[in-house]
Amino acid sequence: MPVGVRCILFAVLLALLTGSPALHADKTRIRYATVDGNRYLFLSDVATYYGMRYSRAASSKQVCLSSRYSRLVFTLDDRATTLNDVSVYLGLPVRTWQSNPVVSNADFQLLIDPVLRTGCLPRSNAIRVMIDPGHGGKDPGTKGDRLKQQEKDVTLALASLLRAELARRGYQVALTRSSDQTLALEQRPAQASSWRADLFISLHANYVGTPSVRGIESFRMCPKDTKSTYGNTTNSSTHPGNACDRRNTRLAYEVQKALLQATGAPDRGVRQANFLVLREASCPAMLVEVGYMSNAKEEKLLAAASYRAKIAVGIANGIDRFRQAVGPQP
Ligand SMILES: [Zn+2]
Repeated sequence: MPVGVRCILFAVLLALLTGSPALHADKTRIRYATVDGNRYLFLSDVATYYGMRYSRAASSKQVCLSSRYSRLVFTLDDRATTLNDVSVYLGLPVRTWQSNPVVSNADFQLLIDPVLRTGCLPRSNAIRVMIDPGHGGKDPGTKGDRLKQQEKDVTLALASLLRAELARRGYQVALTRSSDQTLALEQRPAQASSWRADLFISLHANYVGTPSVRGIESFRMCPKDTKSTYGNTTNSSTHPGNACDRRNTRLAYEVQKALLQATGAPDRGVRQANFLVLREASCPAMLVEVGYMSNAKEEKLLAAASYRAKIAVGIANGIDRFRQAVGPQP
């Protein structure tokens, strides 16, 4: 990353903190507007800030920011976006203000910037990984229609594979449960905290009434003043899990990207939710929905040892990339 970028960032942050409207876009200023009580930034200025090309075809709802290294595609009035070929859901939709496409400041600071600029992430350890196999004991989770696999068994099997894969790569690994045991949601992040985990990864499998839906989803905690991807609820408070917002984003992005590469599964996107295990996490945390038990093909894949191994390798690759991003810089 060029040295000048930090200076640019400083000027931008200063402008945002002082609240002075920037009337002219140049490399140090990003114009903003207030839309529905939220601060939104001009996407054309965001492009200038990153040294990216800005393009918007006439009468198209799509806005593209691109450079040699990155390509971001936004859609007006939509939260679905693409960051370097990974589907990512913004916390608030892209809007238009006086004919200018604008993106929320929360999404710029806590979603886009942590993906584009490794240097902005807090340096931290990423060696001790707590894996959380979803459900267990009296709580079976969901169940496939044909093979009758229970989610709690799939997540535990995956957790064992992931533990072995990470240990082989030099990580220290612990599981919130290593047997078919009932475990309250609160106990899961609490265990990560008392074990002093650097990372928390919760594993789940999905189910939905539409059998054709399939693919992988990675969840991060909702940043304050943004909405969960499901539903329309705004997270209006700061929770313990929000202390790691920027790293949560990068972790979910890297794991989603690596999982898609390892499995070839459809990309259901990096999403955000106020899940208790993410809300109460004291370290960078994410939740992965590894596939849909309601889809015949994915139910079968999730039962196959070879596919489970691909999921474990994919998550481990994503953790490796996250560790490279936040670890000590040379
Ligand atoms: Zn679940």
